[in-house]
Amino acid sequence: MKTVPSLETLRALRPVQQPTYDSQGQVDEVLAQLRSRPPLVFAGECDALKSKIAEASVGRAFVLQGGDCAETFDSLTASSIRGRLRVLLSMAIVLTYAAEVPVVKIGRIAGQFAKPRSAESETRDGVTLPAYRGDAVNGFEFTEDSRRHDPGRLLQVYNASAATLNLVRAFTKGGFADLRSMHSWNSDFVRTAQVSKRYEQLTGEINRALAFMIACGVDDESFRTVDFFASHEALLIDYEHSLTRIDSRTDTPYNVGGHLLWIGDRTRQQGGAHVELLKNLRNPIGIKIGPGATPENILPVLDDLDPDQEPGRLTVISRMGKSKIRDLLPPIVEAVESTGRKVCWICDPMHGNTFSSATGYKTRSFSDVADEVNGFFDVHATLGTWPGGIHIELTGDDVTECVGGATRLVEADLSHRYETLCDPRLNRTQSLELAFLVADRLSGIERPATDFVSMDF
Ligand code: PEP
Ligand code: MN
Repeated sequence: MKTVPSLETLRALRPVQQPTYDSQGQVDEVLAQLRSRPPLVFAGECDALKSKIAEASVGRAFVLQGGDCAETFDSLTASSIRGRLRVLLSMAIVLTYAAEVPVVKIGRIAGQFAKPRSAESETRDGVTLPAYRGDAVNGFEFTEDSRRHDPGRLLQVYNASAATLNLVRAFTKGGFADLRSMHSWNSDFVRTAQVSKRYEQLTGEINRALAFMIACGVDDESFRTVDFFASHEALLIDYEHSLTRIDSRTDTPYNVGGHLLWIGDRTRQQGGAHVELLKNLRNPIGIKIGPGATPENILPVLDDLDPDQEPGRLTVISRMGKSKIRDLLPPIVEAVESTGRKVCWICDPMHGNTFSSATGYKTRSFSDVADEVNGFFDVHATLGTWPGGIHIELTGDDVTECVGGATRLVEADLSHRYETLCDPRLNRTQSLELAFLVADRLSGIERPATDFVSMDF
């Protein structure tokens, strides 16, 4: 039986990467309000996601997790949310059709508002202010007032997450995600002949197959609706604790602020507040592992988070960097697999491959991202384990934040449309291009015959 530690117990563990507020009284007031708010997601939905992740842990599905590095209150618009969904659904179609594998679709969305930072402060022109920690904590504007940590923002996070999730549910269940309209999602989409031609060809084939099935009398609900799940990094202990509730069906605790929560690479310490909170939740849980991860420091945390080895409970998201993944990931995969534990192995090819351009932009190169993805597939091919998914920072807009890809974006282009407040994201075309790359790798894997026939769409 899981019981949630009290907030006092968690605070006594001195969680890292937390805001420092001026008024504890105001924090307590905000948290009391949050505790009375309705859930954003249901426990049963979290369980459904867990079952799907369990499939992806044993080679019968593939997880596509993606979205902004940091959502912002400014990007709480219909067009921004639709854009993000559209690119994720397009990628999912490529993966489902080309790789013939059900795709579990998870957004970094409706809650991804808080950021861990390497530096506490930022200095510009001799002025030093607290670092921007995401809209959940402070403002991006470089003024003392905006950078102050404001607990009132937690209520805004809840409201923004609720509004986002509402639209996501409407889009995915209300007709927008109808497979037959996938051409229209992308009428103004892809800018390069190479990627668009391949996408057009694929959607044309799907349309013909669908028309055939419908003519035969098959008209499945899964052609019209999509199961889409929300995830975010569980960073702010106060907020995550306030959205933890006891599910009346099972009498067990769930975080009702998102379906899947993950622990970041900087906050995954054994015995730390993040692990102590999340180990007591029934949601599916992710854990990011960077180059500092070893079998010795990871296995005990996995044991803590999932002592019962429950199928679908754990997702391990590696973000080693393109030049390290082939060396650092295999011993971890081997050590985990040798315990009999089945986790879902996901590749985050973004966070180990960030660099500064000559012009001072934080950027990533498409070829480095592709290299890490290929490294991930190579590692699993060598070990005979299943590459369970990818985790991407992307956006639905034609931003210029990452260099390379079919449009050959160069460093001089970065200034055209550099909009992220945190890490650089793949734009729509780069995201789709990556989906084709992953689909090619997936379709090259020998898979045992299976009676699993759902298209999951
Ligand atoms: C992120 O996902 O934006 C992030 C901060 O990742 P990591 O914990 O892997 O550094
Ligand atoms: Mn990021």
